[in-house]
Amino acid sequence: MADRPLGADPAPRAFVTGWPVSHSRSPMIHGHWLQKYGLRGAYVKHPCTAEDLAGFLTDLADAGFVGGNVTIPHKEAAFALADHADDTAKRLGAANTVWLHDGALHVSNTDGYGFAQNLAESVSDWNASERLERGALVLGAGGAARAIVDCLKQQGFSTVYIANRTLAKANALAAEFGSPCTAISMEDIPDRASNVSLIVNTTSLGMEGTAQAAESPVDLSGFSEDTIVNDIVYTPLITPLLKQATKLGMTPVDGLGMLLHQAVPGFERWFGVRPEVTSELRALVVADLGDAK
Ligand code: NAP
Repeated sequence: MADRPLGADPAPRAFVTGWPVSHSRSPMIHGHWLQKYGLRGAYVKHPCTAEDLAGFLTDLADAGFVGGNVTIPHKEAAFALADHADDTAKRLGAANTVWLHDGALHVSNTDGYGFAQNLAESVSDWNASERLERGALVLGAGGAARAIVDCLKQQGFSTVYIANRTLAKANALAAEFGSPCTAISMEDIPDRASNVSLIVNTTSLGMEGTAQAAESPVDLSGFSEDTIVNDIVYTPLITPLLKQATKLGMTPVDGLGMLLHQAVPGFERWFGVRPEVTSELRALVVADLGDAK
C-alpha cells in the first residue's frame, strides 16, 4: 500500500470479536476482498471477554474501528448495546454485524441473508411457490437455528418444522416465532415432515473433531428425491448427512456459502464496495479448512 500524506483519512479498520476468535475465517474472507478490490483498510481479530464487550463497542471510534463482526458468545449482548438495530436483528434479538453511523452504534444480523443467498446460488427454485407450500424442516434449535427459522418464515414457507434432541428448546423456538413454526420430536419426523421440500441441519452432528463426527441427524430414506438437503456444518464440507442425500439422489447444499455470503453486507458497510462471493474465495477458504474434497 502506498504511503499516505500526514493528515489523510485513516484507512478504515474492521474487526471480528468473540471469545475466542482464533478459529474465525472472517479475516481471511475480508482480507481477500480488500486485496481483490485494491482498498485501503484492515480487518483484524479482536478477542474480547463478556466483561470487556460493552467498553469495546462503545469506544469503537476511539480504537479506530468503523465496525465489525460479533460472534459467539456476544451476539445477544451486541444487540442489547446497539443504538439502532434493523428489523432482522430485532426479530432475532442478536447481532453479528455492527457499524458506526453519525457516532451511533448500528447493528444487523446477516446469518439468515447468508443462508438464503447460499441456497439461491445452489438451487435456483429453492423458494419456488410449490416448494414453499410443502414446507421446511429445521434440525436443531440452537443459536444458528434461530436465524434460519426466521429466514424461512420470512420467505413464506407454509410450515417450518423444528425438530431437536431437546424438544423443550424446539417448543420454545416455535412459540417465539409463532405460525408457521411447529415443534416436533425427532421421532415424529417420518410421520409429520417427510413431504418437506427443504431440510436444514443446524445441529453440530457430523462436525469433525467431535464425538458425533460420523453421525447424521436424520435418516433421509423416507423423503422425496427432490428434497434439498442443506447442512450448515462446513467442517467437513461434505458431512455424513450430505453423503446420505447424494446417495439418495437428493440435492445436497454445503454450509460454506452461508459463511461467505453472511460477510457481504458488513464489508460493503465498512469499506464501501459490495464484494462478490467467487469460486476463488471459496477455494481459498476450503484450502484453509484442509478439506479440498
Ligand atoms: P448451538 O447453539 O450450540 O446449538 C447446537 C444444536 O445442536 C442444538 O440444537 C443441540 O441440541 C444440537 N446437538 C448438539 N449435540 C447433539 C447431539 N449429540 N445429538 C443431537 N443434537 C445435538 O450451536 P449453533 O451456534 O446453533 O451452531 C450449530 C452448528 O452450526 C455448528 O456446527 C456451527 O459450526 C454451525 N454454523 C454454521 C454457520 C455457517 O455459516 N455455515 C453459521 C453458524 C453456525 P440440544 O438443544 O438438544 O442440545
